[in-house]
Amino acid sequence: MKQLQPLRGTRDVWEREAKNHQEIIKKAIEHAELYGYNYIDTPIIESLGVFQKTLGETSDVVGKEMYQFLDRSGDPIVLRPEGTAPIVRALLSLKLTQKLPQKFYYHGPMFRYERPQKGRYRQFYQMGIECLGIDEPLIDAECIALAYYILKDLSLPFSSLTLHLNTLGDQESRSNYKRTLKEYFETYRHELSLESQKRLETNPLRILDSKNERDKLIAAEAPSGSAFLTKESSLFFDSLCQFLNILEIPFTLTPSLVRGLDYYCHTTFEFRTTALGAQDAVLGGGRYNGLVKNMGGPDIPGIGWAMGIDRLASLIENPLKTVSKIALIPIGDNSISYALTLLNKLRKEKIHCEMTYRGTVSKRFDYAEKQGCSTALIIGEEEINQGTIRIRSIGEKQKNEKEITEKDLITLLKKIDIS
Ligand code: AMP
Repeated sequence: MKQLQPLRGTRDVWEREAKNHQEIIKKAIEHAELYGYNYIDTPIIESLGVFQKTLGETSDVVGKEMYQFLDRSGDPIVLRPEGTAPIVRALLSLKLTQKLPQKFYYHGPMFRYERPQKGRYRQFYQMGIECLGIDEPLIDAECIALAYYILKDLSLPFSSLTLHLNTLGDQESRSNYKRTLKEYFETYRHELSLESQKRLETNPLRILDSKNERDKLIAAEAPSGSAFLTKESSLFFDSLCQFLNILEIPFTLTPSLVRGLDYYCHTTFEFRTTALGAQDAVLGGGRYNGLVKNMGGPDIPGIGWAMGIDRLASLIENPLKTVSKIALIPIGDNSISYALTLLNKLRKEKIHCEMTYRGTVSKRFDYAEKQGCSTALIIGEEEINQGTIRIRSIGEKQKNEKEITEKDLITLLKKIDIS
C-alpha cells in the first residue's frame, strides 16, 4: 500500500516545532489573562453562514480559500478560516450582548485553501484576542500593547519586527476614499493585474495591498487615505498614536495597510518581520465596528488581532529544552510490582520517570539512554528486602553508583529532576 501522507499544506507538528508552539501559547495566555481576557473555545466547524456575507464576499478568505463541504445531512459546513466571526457568533449565541464589554482570547487551528509555501499552510495555528463593546482609542492602544509585549516576551529576534499602523476611518471616510480610489485606478484599468481589475469593481481599497509589482507602482501614487478621514476619525487615530507614544511602542504609518478582510474600519495594524521572506506578517488585526450588526446582532464595536503561531515558532531561537528523566530498571520478575508502585509514587511527586519494559539489564540501560534518561534506579530482590535502591547515572563512562534508602530517594531525585 502507498505510504499515507498528510494532506498538502498540512503537517505533523512535533519535536522542536511543537515545543515552540506550546511555549508561544503559554506566554500569550499569561499576558492575555493579565489584560483581563477570558479563554473561549469555539468549534472548528461552523455553518457557512458564519463566514459568508459577514466577512465580505470580496475577501480572499471567503471568496476562494474556505474549506467548505456538505455534511451527511446536506448542511453547508466550513472549517473555520479565522477566529473573529466565530467569536461574534458565540457572543450572540451565548446572549452576551447585554454583558459588555467582553474580552476573549482563543487559540487553535485555522484552515485556508491557499497555495502552500514556506510559512503558509492550509492548516495553520493562531492565537488571538477580541474585545467587544468598547469604541475608544484607549482600548485599541491596549490591544496593540498586549500584542507587543507578547512578542517581546518570546525568544525571537524582536528587533526584526516592525509594527505597521493605519486607519481606514469610519464608514463615511471609507466610502469617500473608496470612491476616489476607484476613479484613480480606473485611469490605469488596463495596466492593472486581472485580480486588481476585479477588485476595482468589488473593493478598490484592496488594490492597495496587491502583491503584483506593476500594481504596487500604480498604488504608490494613489491618493492617500488620510485626506478622506472625517474629523472624528482623525481625532480617534491621533489619540491612538498618542497613547502608543505614551506606552513607548514604536510604529510605522503604512497607508497601504488595508488587510484582507472587508469588515475592518478605523485602526488596522500588523507586525511584520524581516526574518522570514515573503510571508512576513506575524500578527495582524484591527477594528471591526460593523461586524456584529452584520451578523444579525446589535450595533456593537469590536477590535482584535490574531497571531500566526507557525511563523512565530519558526523564529524562535530556544534550544530544545529536555527534562532530566529517571529510568526504573527492575531485575527479575519479582521486582516488577515493586517497581510499578515506585513509578507511581515518583510521578505523584512530579518526578519525570520512565519504566524500562523488558529485556536484559544491559538492554534496559540502552533503552533508558535512548529515552534520554539521565539516571537509573536499579531494583533487585535483594535491595527490596533491604529497603534500598541502587542509583546510577546513565551514559557516563565511569560507573557512578550508590545505594540509597527509599526514604531519601525522593529528596535526591527532586534535586536531579530540576538540575
Ligand atoms: P489573518 O487572519 O489573515 O489576519 O492572519 C493573522 C496571522 O495569521 C498572519 O499575520 C499570519 O502570521 C498568520 N497566517 C495567516 N494565514 C496563514 C497561513 N496560511 N499559514 C500560516 N500562517 C498564516
